[in-house]
Amino acid sequence: MNTLKGVYVLIIQVDNDTGVNVGALGKLTFEKGLYAYVGSAQANLEQRIKRHLGKEKRLFWHIDYLLNNSVARIVKVLYKQANRTEECKIAKVIGEIGESVDGFGCSDCSCKSHLFRIGDYRFLQGFMRVLHVET
Ligand SMILES: [Zn+2]
Repeated sequence: MNTLKGVYVLIIQVDNDTGVNVGALGKLTFEKGLYAYVGSAQANLEQRIKRHLGKEKRLFWHIDYLLNNSVARIVKVLYKQANRTEECKIAKVIGEIGESVDGFGCSDCSCKSHLFRIGDYRFLQGFMRVLHVET
């Protein structure tokens, strides 16, 4: 069933400090830690998440480059049924707490970033639900 649409946050664990070539952004250094990436899928949210979870894919979005690296893995997926404007609002909320990776995932909007290094993701569970996806 592909019924969900909305805004999602991928919680990503980076196991070691690593340099990743992120397409047009060039080589960025990711410190070991937890990251939150905000995206939206206004159709087929589950399909989008499955794409993020899969390793075999064409590298298209900035996030694809990070997730293609063996040190990065998705540990939790949160979502909220909401329209696309909410995507940037959630990015701003996370940005108040997290440390932004400037220019990442926000080519189509005016945000500073859609990827943040965070200490904890529990605060997101106050307004987002956990998505369970079969892989
Ligand atoms: Zn944005």
